[in-house]
Amino acid sequence: MSERHPDTAAVHAGRLAIPLNRASSPPLFQASSYEFADLADVEAIYAGVKQGAVYGRYGGPNAAQFESAIAELEGAEAAAGAAAGMSAIHAAVGTALTPGATLLATQELYGGTFALLENDYRKAGVRVEYVDQQNLGEVAAALASLRPGVLYVEALTNPLMNVADLPALARLAHDAGAALIVDATFATPALCRPLDFGADLVVHSVGKYLGGHGDVGAGVVAGRRDLIEAIRGRLVRTGATMPHFEAWLALRGLRTLALRMERHSRNAAAVARYLSTVPEVAAVHHPSLHAAQRELVARLYPSGTGGIVAFDLAGGSAAVDPFLRGLETIAIVHSLGEVATTISYPAVSSHRPLTPQARQALGVSDATLRISVGIEHEADIIADLARAFAGLAERVRA
Ligand code: PLP
Repeated sequence: MSERHPDTAAVHAGRLAIPLNRASSPPLFQASSYEFADLADVEAIYAGVKQGAVYGRYGGPNAAQFESAIAELEGAEAAAGAAAGMSAIHAAVGTALTPGATLLATQELYGGTFALLENDYRKAGVRVEYVDQQNLGEVAAALASLRPGVLYVEALTNPLMNVADLPALARLAHDAGAALIVDATFATPALCRPLDFGADLVVHSVGKYLGGHGDVGAGVVAGRRDLIEAIRGRLVRTGATMPHFEAWLALRGLRTLALRMERHSRNAAAVARYLSTVPEVAAVHHPSLHAAQRELVARLYPSGTGGIVAFDLAGGSAAVDPFLRGLETIAIVHSLGEVATTISYPAVSSHRPLTPQARQALGVSDATLRISVGIEHEADIIADLARAFAGLAERVRA
């Protein structure tokens, strides 16, 4: 190469310093644009005939790696990464709905999804209706009368941990000509693969268990290739594809998903058992305690049901703040699925968009707390909860 001016070298130098043998863990490709060898290269890469990247918003190598990992884990033909769980949900629902179609959603819905359906879909003219996903008779009747384009459910509901009967819901949806979309954020493919039970699309908030360390903001949707390619188109057009670094972090988190979910599940079951013995607790919500769902849990979740446990304080809403102040290591966090145990108060966090009446109707009271049980030693998690229960009555009076 001819000698060049330092100004030019500063711009171009070092570009060949890429090892040609494969790195043992995925490198981060923090580039927003890629070079083409010639116009044939441009055409081949755009047509997907040759593997390659074009431009950041279209998705980069790290997102492609994460997507292929999720597709394999979910048993899907393809997956599309998104900027957030909400972008994945929006792209999946928006793509599956045809003009004039109705959307039938579970009433036990993550508050952000409820806000999306109400503020963006209903206001745009989509008919949005809700149903109790646990009541299959009600679901069948709603499907028959509304003939929706999409039935949208949550695999494990937030925060009460009801278990959706996915095989039955898929059958009912398909008999009525609807597509079934499942939010499986709480379950992850380590515990349950909705596509195996007939779902058309599965969506996740990646920042929860898939990423697992409380440092990722992203989403993903998996399913049939033709649906995913349509969804990807929408994500690209709306600038909602998965950022490179988030994809890199998420894939790193995925490596320990199976181990983490096993420990989350075991610890959460232990916490549920402990809470059932505490006099200051009026009710505990965990699949191991839902007697009517025992057979379903065994069939759909043979390896456990993840880290979420909810409970109602016997002292009502007046006991919530004094209880939270009694915790030392369990932090108040408006997310879940991290390695550390965290707690949230759904009335002011995930279920904030709902009226108190709507929350009550779902069984989420002003005394309901949700624990995202981490992977610490179970004795230390229970000890912190016990600390908060000890002296709770005095702190309520104070
Ligand atoms: N689905 C569930 C069950 C959630 O808990 C959340 C977020 O808390 C979302 C979807 C939305 O995901 P994100 O915050 O990544 O947009």
